[in-house]
Amino acid sequence: MIVVSSRAKARAEVARLHAGGQSLALVPTMGALHEGHLSLVERATELAERVMVSVFVNPLQFGPGEDLEQYPRDLERDVGRVAERGADLVFAPSTTEMYPDGELPVTVTPGPMGDLLCGRYRPGHFQGVLTVVAQLFDLLTPDVAVFGQKDFQQAVLIRRMAHDLDMGVCIEVAPIIREEDGLAMSSRNAYLSPEERSEAVGIYLGLQRASQLFTRGESRAEALISEVRDAVDARTLLHEQYVEIVDPERLEPVDPVVPGSVIMVAAHCGSTRLIDNLILEAS
Ligand code: AMP
Repeated sequence: MIVVSSRAKARAEVARLHAGGQSLALVPTMGALHEGHLSLVERATELAERVMVSVFVNPLQFGPGEDLEQYPRDLERDVGRVAERGADLVFAPSTTEMYPDGELPVTVTPGPMGDLLCGRYRPGHFQGVLTVVAQLFDLLTPDVAVFGQKDFQQAVLIRRMAHDLDMGVCIEVAPIIREEDGLAMSSRNAYLSPEERSEAVGIYLGLQRASQLFTRGESRAEALISEVRDAVDARTLLHEQYVEIVDPERLEPVDPVVPGSVIMVAAHCGSTRLIDNLILEAS
């Protein structure tokens, strides 16, 4: 496996792979890789002949006062882990390599869907995400890019961007990988104290209960949302930011709730912000 940190070398490696006529998949990440990320790498190996993983803690998607400095970084470990799962190329640029001129005057804006849900609490976040993903697509020219359902709103916005700007890359969304007790894996789980960690599972338990209620015939959004809220509120260290049930494409609230609708949750556990979601299925 090859590891490159410069854009020029990445471009050269990609040209070499293209010359061999091989199809390319990309898994964009911010590193501190866990089984959730690695499941995307495995999915990518099923979708293309060569798999590229980017590892870049993108400053554009962090707001003031967020955890940019603190964000866990361990490139050596990440490289070993993705190599084991079949990656061919890791692109791990520095911030100055990606943004030599500092601030970017030109960015990709997500439109109104970027202001919903997480966008309400993280202004500019999705603009930062779309901008770096567009740069990665342009540089690495993947045929397919794999994202996690864990960041549902992000995946929807990236799919829209790829479609609306006709980027010629197929967007694949892979399921959420969870810890044994159900907590969605996240690099940020490392911030949780043992007490916070044991309470964090309340989010998943609430999602499960709402899903069970839905399969028993409850379709009122308010009733299903209350079920999630009650589970979150029952844990003193969990503080809800939002619970909404939305349409999977437009991300707008739905009521009555139908199969395919998505329950979206964001909550703080102590000072760590956690997100999770669940796609409701027909009984
Ligand atoms: P991040 O490094 O947090 O930016 O995430 C990189 C990619 O991994 C994104 O597409 C995430 O949605 C995905 N991802 C993060 N956590 C999980 C998880 N628990 N299961 C599946 N995919 C995940």
